[in-house]
Amino acid sequence: MGVALLGGAAALCAGAQDIYLADSVRLLGLQQVAQKGDGPDVERFAAKGLPDLFAEKNREYVYVGGAKVFLDDNIDTKKGKLTVTRLDYDKVLVPLFWRLPPQLPGSKRIVIDPGHGGKDPGKLNTSLGYEEKAATLDTAVRLKLVLEKRGFEVILTREKDVFVELADRAAAANKLKADLFVSLHYNGGAAGDATSAGLETYCLTPPGQYSTNKASGKADITAEAGNRFDTFNLLLAWNVHRSVLKATGGEDRGIRRARFAVLRPLNCPGILVEGGFISSRTEGAQIANAAYRQKLAEAIGEGVVAYVVRVRSKQ
Ligand SMILES: [Zn+2]
Repeated sequence: MGVALLGGAAALCAGAQDIYLADSVRLLGLQQVAQKGDGPDVERFAAKGLPDLFAEKNREYVYVGGAKVFLDDNIDTKKGKLTVTRLDYDKVLVPLFWRLPPQLPGSKRIVIDPGHGGKDPGKLNTSLGYEEKAATLDTAVRLKLVLEKRGFEVILTREKDVFVELADRAAAANKLKADLFVSLHYNGGAAGDATSAGLETYCLTPPGQYSTNKASGKADITAEAGNRFDTFNLLLAWNVHRSVLKATGGEDRGIRRARFAVLRPLNCPGILVEGGFISSRTEGAQIANAAYRQKLAEAIGEGVVAYVVRVRSKQ
């Protein structure tokens, strides 16, 4: 980083924007290649149909197809691997290496993931004795019917009250070659909090970016499989969130970023919907009512359809 003179705060801020070069260009289809004589400070990448990329520690430029291209900031290293700034990834590497993915994300087969289940009840409305795992499964079944009526093929990660590991949920979607993944949850406040309410929609945090609920700490600079769909993740989240807000009139707690285990390994766009606070006296009572869950399922379905219309228009 060439920012030491800018002072601690600026340096911290800039440093937090770094991402691993190898991880990030892998999202663009480039593979790291070794060449005899290269030192530890050098990384090379190549892919069929794309120019080669050559990067070296402390340089303020990279070579793309043999041409020198200056960066916003020097190449740095972390844990022995080269890093670039998020800005240089977005403004230099993506434009030069971008190509349409082999297939744009499809939109036929949707995997719905009812949160929790079995020994894991999730959040709870104590006065009603109503558990999140029951609400998510019921909502998922309703959403399945809504989407099937719109011509989608829909599969649930669980169809009854059973425990499913987080890692197995995303793995199931990948194995099924899902085109879209929607995880359903209901929120809960801290113990004794019966007033927090509202809707949140999560998508995977892009590499180098802070997750929304993280009060402190560092941005994770690793690029996950799910980050290949950053554009589509956000587009899906936005369409669903808007639709759900409009239908329920719930408080807008925002489209948020998190590195959830159910989103990180996905081979398709995915989101996690928090459809209200089950712990809330008023919202929790609504969630316990089948009419609300039906309304929510229809709204999520409308949001998915709006997303699909948008993506198909790009094809
Ligand atoms: Zn949950």
